[in-house]
Amino acid sequence: MSNHFNSLPYNKNALEDMIKNQIVYRGVSSSKVLDALRKFPREYFVREKDKPYAYTDGPLSIGYNQTISQPYIVALMTDLLDLSGNEKVLEIGTGSGYQTAILSLLAKEVYTIEVVPALVDFAKNNLKRFGVQNVHFFCKNGYEGLPEHAPFDRIISAAAPKKIPETWKKQLKKGGIMVLPVGIVYQDLLRITKIDDQHFVEENILPVRFVPLVKEDES
Ligand code: SAH
Repeated sequence: MSNHFNSLPYNKNALEDMIKNQIVYRGVSSSKVLDALRKFPREYFVREKDKPYAYTDGPLSIGYNQTISQPYIVALMTDLLDLSGNEKVLEIGTGSGYQTAILSLLAKEVYTIEVVPALVDFAKNNLKRFGVQNVHFFCKNGYEGLPEHAPFDRIISAAAPKKIPETWKKQLKKGGIMVLPVGIVYQDLLRITKIDDQHFVEENILPVRFVPLVKEDES
């Protein structure tokens, strides 16, 4: 590992318990994903006062009405992306940067968009401690994606649109995979595989609860 991880103290027992009881227990067993969770202890992505709860089985507030996602969901979404290490990934909803950090280890480059400026700073600071260098931060509404950097091998969203934005489908490479929650009150976690511009395979993974995607006209 070429980051500063080894020099950072963390609660190893709590992290290993989280991996065993929340993630492996529910069926995510990819050693690449599990090792990435070990490289980025979740306590470095929550607010100081929440450190004692960093390894609990749920989302936690990061302020601004936003949350760091549940560890299992982060692991599951990462697993569903099926990363080999060469991918250029678009992430919508940086939040704490926890998912971003994990992607940075398993993909080649991460382009991440967050609409709340203070959270962009929070995530940047969180990632800086680990010496992560392959993440590009953008502070804007992610609804339009990043046409200037498209196409992407993978797209992942941590905020739920009412329906899949056409812009994201367009910016996904042929053969690429997109993992996102879709819906209003009841959302489904979907995995979309792009066959070509007209054909997409849609898999419904499980019901989830994410924050809504802020739309273009609401930001
Ligand atoms: N993976 C992150 C999840 C953060 S929650 C983590 O675990 O920390 C989802 C994030 O999406 C919030 O930070 C929210 O501000 C952001 N968001 C919501 N709508 C957005 C939009 N249209 N564009 C960019 N970011 C958005």
